[in-house]
Amino acid sequence: MVTAVVGANWGDEGKGKITDMLAKDSDIIIRFQGGANAGHTIVNSYGKFALHTLPSGVFYNHTTSIIGNGVALDIPKLFAEVKDIEDGGVPTPKILVSDRTQIVMSYHKLFDAYEEERLAGKSYGSTKSGIAPFYSDKYAKIGFQVSELFDDNILKEKIDKICTLKNVMLEHLYHKPLLTKEGLYKELMEYKEMVSPFVCDCSAYLYNEMKAGKNILLEGQLGSLKDPDHGIYPMVTSSSTLAGYGAIGAGIPPYEIKKIVTVVKAYSSAVGAGAFVSEIFGDEAVKLRNHGGDGGEYGATTGRPRRVGWFDCVASHYGCRIQGTTDVAFTVLDVLGYLDEIPVCIGYEIDGKVTKEFPVTTKLEKAKPVLKVFPGWKKDIRGIKKYEELPKECRDYIEFIEKELQYPITMISNGPGRDDIIYR
Ligand code: GDP
Repeated sequence: MVTAVVGANWGDEGKGKITDMLAKDSDIIIRFQGGANAGHTIVNSYGKFALHTLPSGVFYNHTTSIIGNGVALDIPKLFAEVKDIEDGGVPTPKILVSDRTQIVMSYHKLFDAYEEERLAGKSYGSTKSGIAPFYSDKYAKIGFQVSELFDDNILKEKIDKICTLKNVMLEHLYHKPLLTKEGLYKELMEYKEMVSPFVCDCSAYLYNEMKAGKNILLEGQLGSLKDPDHGIYPMVTSSSTLAGYGAIGAGIPPYEIKKIVTVVKAYSSAVGAGAFVSEIFGDEAVKLRNHGGDGGEYGATTGRPRRVGWFDCVASHYGCRIQGTTDVAFTVLDVLGYLDEIPVCIGYEIDGKVTKEFPVTTKLEKAKPVLKVFPGWKKDIRGIKKYEELPKECRDYIEFIEKELQYPITMISNGPGRDDIIYR
């Protein structure tokens, strides 16, 4: 059976923890989109790890971890990450890389940084991991596919073409050093040596594994609101964050995805620019940020402080709907235990009218939050294993949100650890 684990919000919902947890009963875990621009933080018996490219199933001996064709693959980063977890005492994971995955080149990262520099104050808040230039090149058909590393003629022809194209921009728009053919070829040969042992025809592999009845997890990066089509365009990422894209980014039939676990966080957080209706500021934001996540809401990849806000029913219902949710995993609930009162955003006021439908970005910029305030439970709920044992105020909060989401909350995460979970 194939299950997708995806985010309903702006990312950082705790997908890594949920994937790590579900990986226990899975055979194969696949990253199907995105690159090393966001991270998952995972706490388990080996310690605490930040993963950026590796799927969150790498901590088990029985799993195979796949980098799907939809991923923006930064090869040196992938292997640095493998080394990192090995140094942390984790057994060497079994990894496969699709021969159709494309490669993030060092110039993609440079172009990312140069463009942010050029835009100055109007930048998108990119992590400068080369993601937008990478996907632009992929769809402009000038990307390098892993399979091409094994064909010198194709490679050299493409290098020629890319040098000509990129150098025009480097010289005239950015005024930066130019690319050389020799430099690009050398870079690609280094990548070839690193990645060769892991390259595989993944869709064929998965076809056979599905026939054998294996359990497969598709792990998404970021969340619904960062999807380039359905998110807060243009403040989005460059590959689809939706479960539906899992079929494409892994190479499996869409109808094989039977379960869509959408991870929804008990309050809101976001990195980068873009409208964020329920955002809070000042002291109350600092408090929530410092209580948040596991050791504060700071980006796993960049260390940037995350923007925080109250739970947003409008954005989260939409985020679940666009994912095609079958199950909601409601996470990081324990963090709210310090609050006397917990506001929840239940509607958006736009031009004097209240709506519960998540609007397009031009209207979103004008939305003001309609808040409803709930009493806090003022208690540490970590360690609780049964739903009935949660404080009444806490259950009321969950049940109200479930009604607003219109999707069943079947898992509640009350701590960062693998076992901090309540099934309903
Ligand atoms: P992801 O990108 O969706 O995997 O999310 P991140 O890993 O960036 O952010 C989630 C953060 O919250 C990490 O630091 C996790 O260890 C932590 N976390 C996940 N679930 C819980 C939870 O239920 N409670 C607490 N306190 N922290 C959690």
